[in-house]
Amino acid sequence: MSAPVNPQRTIAELKELRALTGNEHGAQRVAFTPVWTATRAWLRQKLAALPVETHTDAAGNLWSTLPGESERALLIGGHMDSVPNGGWLDGCLNVLAGLEIVRRLNEQYHGRPPVTVRLVDWADEEGARFGKSLFGSSACSGNLNLDEARGLKDRDGIALPAALQAVGVELERVKESGVELQNAAAYLELHIEQGPVLLDLDLPLGAVLGTFGVERHAITFHGQAAHSGSTPMNRRKDAFLAAAKMSQEIYDIAARSQGGVCTIGSCTTQPGIVTSVVAECRLTLDQRHLDAPALARMLVEARAASERFAREGGVTVTWERLWDIAPRPFHPELIALADAAIHETCGKSLRLPSGPLHDAAEVARAGVPTVMMFVQSLHGISHNKIEDTREEHLALCVTAFDRLAAKTMEWIQAGR
Ligand SMILES: [Zn+2]
Repeated sequence: MSAPVNPQRTIAELKELRALTGNEHGAQRVAFTPVWTATRAWLRQKLAALPVETHTDAAGNLWSTLPGESERALLIGGHMDSVPNGGWLDGCLNVLAGLEIVRRLNEQYHGRPPVTVRLVDWADEEGARFGKSLFGSSACSGNLNLDEARGLKDRDGIALPAALQAVGVELERVKESGVELQNAAAYLELHIEQGPVLLDLDLPLGAVLGTFGVERHAITFHGQAAHSGSTPMNRRKDAFLAAAKMSQEIYDIAARSQGGVCTIGSCTTQPGIVTSVVAECRLTLDQRHLDAPALARMLVEARAASERFAREGGVTVTWERLWDIAPRPFHPELIALADAAIHETCGKSLRLPSGPLHDAAEVARAGVPTVMMFVQSLHGISHNKIEDTREEHLALCVTAFDRLAAKTMEWIQAGR
């Protein structure tokens, strides 16, 4: 007879944490600040009631281990840090649901589960202070760019290495945290969806297929400034007109891509005055897809469209790559287990991609079989104090995530 997990305790602890680390503007658990340190102390106190070994690794990630019969480890992760004025669930729901699962396993197996179980609280997932997200998990996966990290400063001019030093982390050694993944057999992460897909379909939970790849570019159309009164319409080289046609086309490109999204997030014009035809128009384009060839195709189509509209309008166009990241598909067998755990819990499920990046993407990148579970977000909103999820859905997600943990332990034991 297995010991039951207690989702109501998770909900009560989330409220306790909100009272301790939030104010009228929302959650204030920004990484490497005193509130974050207090959050960690609160978590450690909860963990102290269990027969676990807890330590901080070289990157400031907190690991808590319940040793099992086998050294092969089931990892459950999340992040206690938040953005300033953040929501009460983003990141900490993952950790506190994981804590509840460790309690359940400890009770069921009298302190010694068949495989080792490890809870991880990643350091600075949000990147709110230094503008670089997934700090702790990318250090652990070995993908953190140290040259870039050395130069990061917060709004007050404090450098990242100094902020890290204040919490006992040495930037030059953060990649030593990779040793923590040595016996990792699987990684699970629960998260609020942060979008409206589950809400619109009236579904409480979904199994996550992976995180989107991203292509981010600046596109500049070059035309000719000319007087808005004296220049006949047929004599214009209007950079804005080409950009405007392009921005409409990206909706068609997204629609053809089967599941991708495209955004023109900014548009600036020169000379930018009311009496001149636009000489130069710069757009930023952000394209995302779960499938690498589909993402590449979206980019090719956007380029072709920009060149076509430039030619038609008698202007020229140039492209500049701003940033890109490959799609990170999760493990197919673990996706199936997550889907089954959700079905058993609430009778219906959905497999969906994640638009935002998560620590899970870095763990998957390090080669550890990974999957995530999403719970519905009310309003489809997060990084905001109005972020919320119905309590009945919070209870369901803890139950389903616990089922996924049980299934994954069996999967590890079967030697997968
Ligand atoms: Zn998060």
